Amino acid sequence: MMRNYGGFMQKFSPWEVVRHDVVFPVRFFGHVAVSPSGSRKWIGGEVMQALAYDVPIPGYKTKNTISLRLWEAKAGAKDFNLFQFNDGQYEAAAQLHSRAQQICAVLYPGDATESGKLLRLKQQFFLCSASLQDIIFRFKERKDGGSWQWSEFPSKVAVQLNDTHPTLAIPELMRLLIDDEGLGWDEAWDVTSRTIAYTNHTVLPEALEKWSQVVMWKLLPRHMEIIEEIDKRFITMIRSSRTDLESKIPNMCILDNNPQKPVVRMANLCVVSAHSVNGVAQLHSDILKAELFADYVSIWPTKFQNKTNGITPRRWLRFCSPELSNIISKWLKTDEWVTNLDKLANLRKFSDNEEFQAEWASAKMANKQRLAQYILQVTGESIDPNSLFDIQVKRIHEYKRQLLNILGAIYRYKKLKEMSPEERKNTTPRTIMIGGKAFATYTNAKRIVKLVNDVGAVVNTDPEVNEYLKVVFVPNYNVSVAEVLIPGSELSQHISTAGMEASGTSNMKFALNGCLIIGTLDGANVEIREEIGEENFFLFGATADEVPKLRKKREAGLFKPDPRFEEAMKFIRTGAFGSYDYNPLLESLEGNSGYGRGDYFLVGHDFPSYMDAQARVDEAYKDRKRWLKMSILSTAGSGKFSSDRTIAQYAKEIWNIEACPVP
Ligand SMILES: *Cc1c(COP(=O)(O)O)cnc(C)c1O
Repeated sequence: MMRNYGGFMQKFSPWEVVRHDVVFPVRFFGHVAVSPSGSRKWIGGEVMQALAYDVPIPGYKTKNTISLRLWEAKAGAKDFNLFQFNDGQYEAAAQLHSRAQQICAVLYPGDATESGKLLRLKQQFFLCSASLQDIIFRFKERKDGGSWQWSEFPSKVAVQLNDTHPTLAIPELMRLLIDDEGLGWDEAWDVTSRTIAYTNHTVLPEALEKWSQVVMWKLLPRHMEIIEEIDKRFITMIRSSRTDLESKIPNMCILDNNPQKPVVRMANLCVVSAHSVNGVAQLHSDILKAELFADYVSIWPTKFQNKTNGITPRRWLRFCSPELSNIISKWLKTDEWVTNLDKLANLRKFSDNEEFQAEWASAKMANKQRLAQYILQVTGESIDPNSLFDIQVKRIHEYKRQLLNILGAIYRYKKLKEMSPEERKNTTPRTIMIGGKAFATYTNAKRIVKLVNDVGAVVNTDPEVNEYLKVVFVPNYNVSVAEVLIPGSELSQHISTAGMEASGTSNMKFALNGCLIIGTLDGANVEIREEIGEENFFLFGATADEVPKLRKKREAGLFKPDPRFEEAMKFIRTGAFGSYDYNPLLESLEGNSGYGRGDYFLVGHDFPSYMDAQARVDEAYKDRKRWLKMSILSTAGSGKFSSDRTIAQYAKEIWNIEACPVP
């Protein structure tokens, strides 16, 4: 991982230990030199140094500790030009130093410009190269004195590619083995493919990395030669042994040689090279096999796997909600659940117990009060802990459909305004909290944040309704904020267009904390609903297999959106929430005619079933005993979603390793 020194006046981290003894050179640019014997070597260009920092990761109630190694880019001492400096050319003298600093300055630099894209590619390669050189060095160091073979490497080392960001590890490992260690192609390929496994995290086409071949040839010329060779051999294999797949080659191969913009398709490189490819929830893994990677399945039927994500119960229950944790341990008469989360299932037998329910309710209330305090402190808004706390916190993205949530809130506000004071008294008071960050250049996501703030400003100051509805935007969403919000939640929204959220993990955090879910059949929601029971889950919306047909219908104008949806959109356009021009945002939700952009995420289609599910929520919340029972059953059914289970599956089914004993 990258050591982020975060710019000016960064707080110093007491846990990282600088390792001045662990430094590896990383090259950029340059060219490939060919020796008389035909061997190839990457030389020239600029060389930076990768300096290691170690952060200890202690296990829970064990002295077993591993270290997380971070890398910082440095210019070598001899790369400082003292002659230039003494000549008064200070900037020029320090050039490599400043380029090295840029590499670790920002985690996800904006990639709207060519220089931003190049910086990202440099970061990716820098981390891959440093880590692989380190891994090879340590493998040899351990084997020194004894005799060893490269063929043992995959049984000692597993490299799990977390998405396509570290894909360059594939050609870099090949380069190190062939050019530096002297292996032949076939031997290097065998070692590389048995070492590398790939986890896919998205099926959104725009999120699949494609790097310009032109940029890659400049920055990493030897790696491009290796990628060309991998691609060539893959195509040869298809042509010789799978003629039935000939027509699929243009989609399956690694290099897209479109003359307008030739690119390297990183996901294809991963699938071709890795010995294992997995998705992060059952539905997502099924979609990978049926759609994104369908063409490869018949070549490698056993390569594709599922590893449903998990969350750590230490952070997401024991630490963030000590109140609920203590009650659980008291009733289970053990805290074994902290390391064996399946034990939570034993809470099911108390789900109707009045005494248990009362203790459960008081712990949830304490967490709601703490959350209300926090909201007051950061937003100045005072919210009522007796209202239903309804939360959606996650990155702002059109596919996650924060717009569906806020349109629902707007409709609710409009109906409350139309009611008599007597009618309002029969409604379920709600506090809707929405939080999350948007990527720097994602304009529609920023507009959604603005809309939530504008709606809050009107609703929260309207004396007719603000006993019954508040809308709050939670700023600066991060893990520390999540640790306060999630324990205080009663309803959480996981409402992505079906088929688009690979897994989600906050759905698991909320369910573990006794929070009910309103959601679509997407990602891990499917498995959560199976575990906690369909009667304890507020389901709505189109299913993943219906989505493509519905999109076509919507585009063709074959169904009219629900009148309630139209009413909410129209209400925004009246200027009820201020003078900001929301037309560009609202047009994304309209059919293809006029300015409409087709409502790709089917907000209009799912709106009526969403509102019906929300009506079921309001009814269920009025029955306190029923709600508490559902809340208890959510926690009791969350055992499967422990990251301990996920990690054990990776260890057994991909890495072929056994756990260290806990002394
Ligand atoms: C868990 C978590 C996420 C992931 O949320 P999803 O709803 O699964 O997208 C994002 N940000 C923070 C701070 C989290 O803790």
